[in-house]
Amino acid sequence: MILNESMKMAGATKIRTMLPVMEHFYTLQGEGYHQGKAAYFIRLAGCDVGCVWCDVKDSWDASKHPKVELDVLIEKVKETPAEIVVITGGEPLMHNLDELTESLHKEGLKTHIETSGAHPLSGSWDWICLSPKKFKAPLPEIVTKANELKVVIYNKADFEWAEKYAALVAQHCKLFLQPEWDKAAQVTPLIIEYIKAHPGWELSLQLHKYINVP
Ligand code: SF4
Repeated sequence: MILNESMKMAGATKIRTMLPVMEHFYTLQGEGYHQGKAAYFIRLAGCDVGCVWCDVKDSWDASKHPKVELDVLIEKVKETPAEIVVITGGEPLMHNLDELTESLHKEGLKTHIETSGAHPLSGSWDWICLSPKKFKAPLPEIVTKANELKVVIYNKADFEWAEKYAALVAQHCKLFLQPEWDKAAQVTPLIIEYIKAHPGWELSLQLHKYINVP
């Protein structure tokens, strides 16, 4: 849901678009292909996917988070030297992101999204990281557009599930396996062996959790 409010200003009508924001911060990307790069994260609120192991359950109910005007968000990004803005959630595609990405591009910023793919694609993206979830399947239109497929491994059965999506993404799509944080001690050794046997895949660790940054 995207909220538009018209505001009369000196005879002119200004459209203020607002999105529910759980948090936003400048940090290092901790996961996947762009791991280790500086990026400004905007975590939008709202998610109906319902992963049992979700580590941001507070994001699920969008009504619990303030709605922030796009121009305010973009000003915050511009206070930093960020070149990449990562839109995450929650499930960010529960909102129409056309205006947000257009505004970010106008500022010369790169737009990245982290999505389960469970809602229709909106926005204009320099990088789409698809992290499909068993709890709500991704839409085919997003699977084929993904630049990066990142599958969270919770148990052994997830490798077969990961291969199902690896067969559906575009040829240039990067493939990552990432241990679910609470299961990392058990599944990381399995992932290492799996990648050694299937070198098309790479390991994604939640680097930010190891270096204690948000
Ligand atoms: S899609 Fe992401 S935010 Fe939504 S429940 Fe799953 S892990 Fe949590």
